[in-house]
Amino acid sequence: MPRIAIAMFAHEGNSFCPVATDLAAFHAKVWLEGDAVGEAFRGTASEMGAALDFLDRHPGWQGSFLRCAATTPAGPLTRTCFETVVAEIVAGLAGGSPWDAVYLALHGAMVAEHMPSADLEVMRRVRAAIGPQVPLGASFDFHANLDPGTVALLDMAAGYKTYPHVDQHETACRVLEGLAGIVAGTIRPVGALAKLDAILPSIAMRTAQGPMAELEAMAAAMEGEGLLDATVFGGFSYGDTPSAGACAMVHADGDRERAQACADALRDAMAARRDRFFVTLPGPAQAVSQVLSRGRLPVAITDPGDNPLSGGTADTPGLLAAVLAARPEVPVVFAYFWDRDLVVRAAAAGIGARLETTLGAVRSDGFGAPVSCHATVEAVLEARYRGNGPMGTGVTVDFGTSVLLALAGTSVRVIVTSSCANLIDTGLFDLFGIDVRAPMLLCVKAKNHFRAAFAPLMAEIVDCDAPGPAALRIEGFAFRHAPAHLYPLQGAAR
Ligand SMILES: [Zn+2]
Repeated sequence: MPRIAIAMFAHEGNSFCPVATDLAAFHAKVWLEGDAVGEAFRGTASEMGAALDFLDRHPGWQGSFLRCAATTPAGPLTRTCFETVVAEIVAGLAGGSPWDAVYLALHGAMVAEHMPSADLEVMRRVRAAIGPQVPLGASFDFHANLDPGTVALLDMAAGYKTYPHVDQHETACRVLEGLAGIVAGTIRPVGALAKLDAILPSIAMRTAQGPMAELEAMAAAMEGEGLLDATVFGGFSYGDTPSAGACAMVHADGDRERAQACADALRDAMAARRDRFFVTLPGPAQAVSQVLSRGRLPVAITDPGDNPLSGGTADTPGLLAAVLAARPEVPVVFAYFWDRDLVVRAAAAGIGARLETTLGAVRSDGFGAPVSCHATVEAVLEARYRGNGPMGTGVTVDFGTSVLLALAGTSVRVIVTSSCANLIDTGLFDLFGIDVRAPMLLCVKAKNHFRAAFAPLMAEIVDCDAPGPAALRIEGFAFRHAPAHLYPLQGAAR
């Protein structure tokens, strides 16, 4: 009976985020092993959901879930955090050896304070633990910043091909079935990777249209001609690592030259489209003015510069300040600020109580001053639910205790949470009884993933560019580790 070890260590590291990622951040989100993985992920649109399905499909296989750790994107992992998780995975591998295959669910853009290319180090240590012969496979996020050395460490790999990422399950299945094929002796995957000499902003990377749709179609056509996998990685713009930048990774059955030629062709096609990824966005005041003058409701304005799924911390005040300055008459819901202390105060004051407070700029005042206001506490609740959108379907979302505040003298209500999580479905609004289909302006700490669930519900979604740890202008950040020749960093301050 073949035995497979399964582990997850997934994090997207924003080198410019003011909040470091420690073990507590993982403990608060995904920190599981053994049977607990099945309880959390069975039936979900996730890598671990796929691993569980794989074992159901292959009753002759025995699977062991080692450490599975994931949390919301934020700043680099502390040394202790990184070393602890890797050590647990390596110890788990040693404890169950020998294995017939090992599967890792990684992100590909993890950064640790002492290790800027953290995923590469995870793969190195796992490879060292299992030796050169045991098939090792890994799946990656579409925004992975992969090092060219990745393919030499792995026997099979694939990345998401959709953004918003609605194919996490399929991607993991592809890797797991590849490993099964290797063990059965039916395939012999060989990988190749080609880096683009550019860091691309992700705002124009949606795979439904535009340059990335064309690149995905090209990769799919290559797969149609017999490749095991062809993935285009947009890369993560805010990861300051030697492996920064977009790339293409291809796995072919036994034909390394073909894999390399296809990876190079995809990279060249990306290079030819490079400038189409660099778009401009309205500032927050301009975006608010645009949507209010057009009057198409319900409408959403996203604040990608503080998107928690890009390492934002739901803390920058720019968009709220712009909304209040515009004095809108239509109902406005702002989702959300991450401010545990304010939640505690509001919950203690109770529903109906009036508070004098500030909103935003708790973690850093480098992106704008906090907004002062008087607010009435409208609701207090535990915001924990199973994801109800097309992305991460069924996966637990946990904003912790959360409150809804009505700002005095305005039409604006603000959700404040005690945990930072991802606004990729209507669950948070549903809990507060807010019908997002009603005529209103939604202001959200979100970017493209938001569209998977909300595009069908909104008359319009407008992205704005406000100051934040994931603001649009990449060259405005002080990169130190990324190669200086990468576009658009040439000549930028270091
Ligand atoms: Zn991603």
